[in-house]
Amino acid sequence: MKKIAVVEDNADNRLVLKAILEEMYDIAEYESGTKALDSFKDNRPDLILLDISLPEVDGLQILKAIRSSRELKEIPVIAFTAHAMVGDRERFLTAGFDNYLSKPILDDKIVVNTIETLLTHPQPKLRD
Ligand code: MN
Repeated sequence: MKKIAVVEDNADNRLVLKAILEEMYDIAEYESGTKALDSFKDNRPDLILLDISLPEVDGLQILKAIRSSRELKEIPVIAFTAHAMVGDRERFLTAGFDNYLSKPILDDKIVVNTIETLLTHPQPKLRD
């Protein structure tokens, strides 16, 4: 099973994602980005679902840390956020996310398809 990290401070949102994904993937849940980063060193996920609004260190800062880590930079990272506004998708892709999923989840298939596409066709990272 591929390993998926869910970094999300809202327990209800973590439950929803787990219910959708746990039969297909090995799920690791983190309620903060700093806990996730600590764990990734020893427990490297194949893909990360990353909330933007997180306590202490937000999702954009966590993404920066991932992309500047030699060991972690190639991992696909999907922004998972309620900030669904015009232009958000472009903003998140420009920031270095591989894709974007908005909350609340309305269609399980979109979540699974987005994950599967990135697991089977990871996008090479050019940035150091
Ligand atoms: Mn949050």
